[in-house]
Amino acid sequence: MVSDLPSEVDLAIVGAGVAGLAAAKTARARGLSVAVLEAQTRTGGRAFTDALNAGDGKAPLPWDRGCHWLHQARENPFTEIADSLGFRYRKSDCTTRIWLGNRWADNTELAERWAAAERAEAAVAAAARSGHDVAMAEVMPDLGRWDGIHRQFLRAMTGEDPAATSAVDDHRYKETDDNWPVEAGFGALIAAWAAELPVATATPVRRLDRTGADLRLETDRGILQARTAILTPSTNVLLSGDLRVDPALPGDLLDTLDGVPLGAANKVALAFDRDVFGLDHALVAHQPDAPRGCNFQIRPFGRDMAVAYTGGPLARELEQTDPAEMTAFAVDQLVAMFGSDVRRHLVSSATTAWGRDPWIRGSYTVCRPGRADARERLLQPVEDRIWLAGEACSLSAFGTVRGAYASGTEAARQAAASLSRANGA
Ligand SMILES: Cc1cc2nc3c(=O)[nH]c(=O)nc-3n(C[C@H](O)[C@H](O)[C@H](O)COP(=O)(O)OP(=O)(O)OC[C@H]3O[C@@H](n4cnc5c(N)ncnc54)[C@H](O)[C@@H]3O)c2cc1C
Repeated sequence: MVSDLPSEVDLAIVGAGVAGLAAAKTARARGLSVAVLEAQTRTGGRAFTDALNAGDGKAPLPWDRGCHWLHQARENPFTEIADSLGFRYRKSDCTTRIWLGNRWADNTELAERWAAAERAEAAVAAAARSGHDVAMAEVMPDLGRWDGIHRQFLRAMTGEDPAATSAVDDHRYKETDDNWPVEAGFGALIAAWAAELPVATATPVRRLDRTGADLRLETDRGILQARTAILTPSTNVLLSGDLRVDPALPGDLLDTLDGVPLGAANKVALAFDRDVFGLDHALVAHQPDAPRGCNFQIRPFGRDMAVAYTGGPLARELEQTDPAEMTAFAVDQLVAMFGSDVRRHLVSSATTAWGRDPWIRGSYTVCRPGRADARERLLQPVEDRIWLAGEACSLSAFGTVRGAYASGTEAARQAAASLSRANGA
């Protein structure tokens, strides 16, 4: 943690998630004086590898509370960063299983399920290509027995129900088949990459005054003057008004933020004292009651653990309950699939409630139907001295670390260019 805040900098960066950290690296490399102000006591934001108690005498198990997969891994800058820092990741596919209530789907049924997903994607793509910015659910065909599970999958991916997700925006996301998990945790990788950056943690910015020639940022640890600023808090945090901007951000920008709010996605991590699954590195979906089902990662990297994943309305509902109820919900589904050993050999659990974190307020952005122009609008600076950055501001990798990184890097480049114009360079 930085002990004293500087009184004056070229660039103030609000938030030390991936976007803020990438902006800081870029700006420092261009010779700007920079202050990174982070509300929480740690850096990383939605990137955070935690340790799960594995029981007596065993090393704790790393698990990612937020980001876990290197999405678009072949083009993801963090793949190269992982290589350079000696972090290992897994390239090969996971085994996939779907529970049908009394047995696992066989290979023919799995092929049917993937074919159903392709039909749904094709319908959304056709609507998007014709510029028809409606809800995904409006154009998805009925997928018969696979309808529930496909919608469950979409809710996990977007954090929202397909009835409230823009088809055009969803189609812009660049989907690739290279999603690779990081063995020691993606959050740990990001923390190692950013370790050398000076960040003022436990320093929430309460007010940004943009009336003067310099910007004035009021924090719990004093006041900072800055010539330019990059704001990386999530859209829901900016909409909450907890960071007051005076005069307020332009009305159309506030309305735009509301077009890409955060959805809900949460995890339950479970540790066991032995292998209760007989599977390694598998992705398992619980089908029978799909709208209330979870997806599970089973024994990632051969560890005696499982991580349940919920998204959309169910994740929102569960995060309002308590950790015990969330854990019971996940364990009941595992018991239905793998038997009562799961309950008997459970050692510990941990849950997330991202929507209840006041500095995050959700999982990742999801575009409302009819608002597919929103992300583009977020890219326009305010008075050529304030930029928004973060996963919300990515057009094809929103909701990901990769998108946050690119957005933070670009905002810092623009801030540097604006400062050098102002200096007459
Ligand atoms: C459950 C879950 C699973 C995910 N899985 C993946 C995945 O597998 N792969 C992937 O690529 N992505 C994944 N993501 C998304 C990814 O984590 C995010 O897209 C990315 O981390 C967002 O970075 P950011 O910098 O835009 O925002 P954030 O991480 O939200 O950073 C913003 C920072 O601003 C701080 N802040 C807020 N208000 C203030 C204030 N007033 N003053 C100072 N600081 C403030 C916050 O504390 C936070 O640290 C997942 C997210 C979740 C929640």
